[in-house]
Amino acid sequence: MPGKRGGSVECYARRVRAEDQEKHERNRVGLCLDCAYARRVQTERGSIFYLCELAAVNPEFRKYPALPVLICSGYAKKTGG
Ligand code: SF4
Repeated sequence: MPGKRGGSVECYARRVRAEDQEKHERNRVGLCLDCAYARRVQTERGSIFYLCELAAVNPEFRKYPALPVLICSGYAKKTGG
């Protein structure tokens, strides 16, 4: 099947660098990625969720926020390692 420019469509495997993976995860998750109130939860089947611990004490926050979270009044940057 020809590509948009009339040439052939080819796919090349490309090594994904650590920075690319982090950027992809940042775009997918948003602020929860490095929020002090976020807990990363991975299911046995490999699905990954971010649990917001503020939801336990404040009903304004969803336990599992819709990702990506772009604006959040509860966001607090995680400190330390
Ligand atoms: S406070 Fe906001 S940014 Fe932090 S985990 Fe909850 S939803 Fe995500």
